[in-house]
Amino acid sequence: PDTPTANIGVVGLAVMGSNLARNLASREGNTVAVYNRSPGRTRDLVAEHPEAGFVPSESVADFAASLSRPRTAIIMVQAGAATDAVISQLVEAFEPGDIIVDGGNALFTDTIRREADIRPTGIHFVGTGISGGEEGALNGPSIMPGGTAESYETLGPILESIAARAPEDGAPCVTHIGTDGAGHFVKMVHNGIEYADMQLIAEAYDLLRNVGGYTPAQIADIFAEWNTGELESYLIEITAEVLRHVDPVTGAPFVDVVVDQAGQKGTGTWTVQQALALGTPVSGIAEAVFARGVSSHPEQRSAVGATITSRPQPQVVPDTFVEDVRRALYSSKVVAYAQGFDEILAGGREYGWQLDPGAIAKIWRAGCIIRARFLNLIADAYERQPDLVSLLADDFFAKAVAEGSDAWRRVVATAALSGVPAPAFSASLAYYDSLSVDRLPAALIQGQRDFFGAHTYRRVDLPGVFHTEWSGDR
Ligand code: NAP
Repeated sequence: PDTPTANIGVVGLAVMGSNLARNLASREGNTVAVYNRSPGRTRDLVAEHPEAGFVPSESVADFAASLSRPRTAIIMVQAGAATDAVISQLVEAFEPGDIIVDGGNALFTDTIRREADIRPTGIHFVGTGISGGEEGALNGPSIMPGGTAESYETLGPILESIAARAPEDGAPCVTHIGTDGAGHFVKMVHNGIEYADMQLIAEAYDLLRNVGGYTPAQIADIFAEWNTGELESYLIEITAEVLRHVDPVTGAPFVDVVVDQAGQKGTGTWTVQQALALGTPVSGIAEAVFARGVSSHPEQRSAVGATITSRPQPQVVPDTFVEDVRRALYSSKVVAYAQGFDEILAGGREYGWQLDPGAIAKIWRAGCIIRARFLNLIADAYERQPDLVSLLADDFFAKAVAEGSDAWRRVVATAALSGVPAPAFSASLAYYDSLSVDRLPAALIQGQRDFFGAHTYRRVDLPGVFHTEWSGDR
């Protein structure tokens, strides 16, 4: 095209890019340029969606020429080398002031590197987390853009036009998260929280089934009921549907015909690796990632299983067990979010981002997998107290968790006595107890460290640093 006609472009037209391009095209005022390495995908998309009025190109040069300035293009290709390849082509074809958005699932440290590399060209590079999968891309995702405030002036209105809208107040689920890698960092932790949410729901199901004795269909009803209360969320809603589903081949509950080994693409692992690097204990999230790992070692599971001669009998539980499990799930979920937001804020301190936890909670209210009514309460907590040190210290959550703590303990104890693994429930409770007891056995660990390594310790009653000459005591 000789005259630029599009205000936004999409590079990479596999499922995510196509859907995002269609979403963009459906919004008033947008004309969308599209480009894909293999031109077949571009031609197919344009042929299948004449209503979108796409401006297709079969070369990067034509694509750049089809965009009005500042040129704004969203890359939706495979994270890693493919993203680097596309970025360098766009940098060649673009000019200072133009904006390159990476909407893929990049590791945030790659985004920091790419932004630093591109900055001297005067082109803005905006790493952007996009959550919600294919459906979200088409109908409204939750969007987490990083990059400069200047680039957000152009990009913000475009992203706001396609983002999901919160059911409570209609606010678009997008906010400028922070500079360079901040958006991809927050998207990473979002995924870690998603792992924890899913694992906690899975543990609740397991306990209801193998201790409570309920059938998958009955548990589907229980989850559907829970979805009308404080646990209301997309994941609880779809869990009920998955549990109700019957396998058409065998007539068995669908959940019983699926191999019990959970897959992962790596963002949960990144969340935990980064938490370790930041010194932020995200034990609930870590257990969720590890639980998928344990499930995926059938050789160890069958070898250890073969050594067991008698399994513990499931505990006999009253009908109130269902409500206990609901409370344990809610409290453990609070811990998962407390840990996730700790990591977000620790990342902000480490990388120099001014992050607004309340605004982040709000943009997860729709469009993404962890969307839930609960996120309003998190936003409220940070609004009440912007320097909140832990969600568990917020008045509202402290009271909610304290009220449910007896139930939580009964569930974790029942799980242990029944031999039903509940790693995320247990780790979350231990975390809560660790933060709330007067004294931790860390004092003894300091003694051990001083004994074998002269690592010194501090005293409760005197200032300064002390070391004991242990050799004389032995
Ligand atoms: P994908 O399978 O990850 O990537 C396929 C796209 O990448 C194709 O357009 C392909 O072009 C292009 N590509 C690969 N190598 C390339 C190269 N060297 N140069 C230029 N283009 C190259 O696609 P996707 O599933 O739509 O995901 C896109 C991005 O969104 C990924 O980063 C993904 O992690 C992220 N994401 C996905 C989801 C999801 O639910 N799928 C959700 C959130 C985020 P050709 O057609 O020429 O091969």
